Amino acid sequence: MLLNPYGMVYVLRLGHRLGRDKRVTTHVGLVARAFGANGFILEGCDESVLGSLRKVLSVWGGDMVVECCSSGMEVVRSWKDAGGEVIHLTMYGLPLDDVIDAIRVSPKPKLVIVGARRVEWFYYENSDYNVAVGNQPHSEVSALALFLDRLFRGRWAYIRFGGAKLRVIPSSRGKVVVRVGGPREGSDEGSRGFHKGSG
Ligand code: SAM
Repeated sequence: MLLNPYGMVYVLRLGHRLGRDKRVTTHVGLVARAFGANGFILEGCDESVLGSLRKVLSVWGGDMVVECCSSGMEVVRSWKDAGGEVIHLTMYGLPLDDVIDAIRVSPKPKLVIVGARRVEWFYYENSDYNVAVGNQPHSEVSALALFLDRLFRGRWAYIRFGGAKLRVIPSSRGKVVVRVGGPREGSDEGSRGFHKGSG
């Protein structure tokens, strides 16, 4: 469990293009989960993305909310009405180093927005922070990972994902995976095995 002082840290993915963005959007969701967000909202309901994320949650654990919406603007409005703050990641924003302390000390729930294609002006105007992870164009995946890492000061690395069916045992070589709750979980042998096909 990650000590999340904000209650909710949700990621809103804008501009998803069916087919073309499936892999990148799935990766945005995977980064959200792995780096400590507890909600992922996809603008546009692509069940193939949502299904992939739910499958990862069921195997590897965690209780991140996964949902879709028809309007990211509505999500922003209701997030702010409920007292939360909105952080839009964009190469045109203020440097991460300059704003991360203020974002971190604010106890407000956080909605972190990442785009795909051009992001509408509404988001620049209505976000509490437009944050640049460097001022060069790169990727929503890298921008989100770096932002969450800095927000949580690296503590995401110690999250224990509740409800996991499988858990990785770090090893210097190979892929060592145990079935959680299996007869010999935690021993050197038992359910431990080398999985070649699980990514
Ligand atoms: N011109 C876009 C922008 O405003 O950052 C880059 C488009 S990029 C293909 C898609 C998304 O990646 C952006 O909407 C933004 O969320 C994120 N992104 C890319 N580079 C970034 C950077 N240097 N800092 C923060 N976010 C970035």
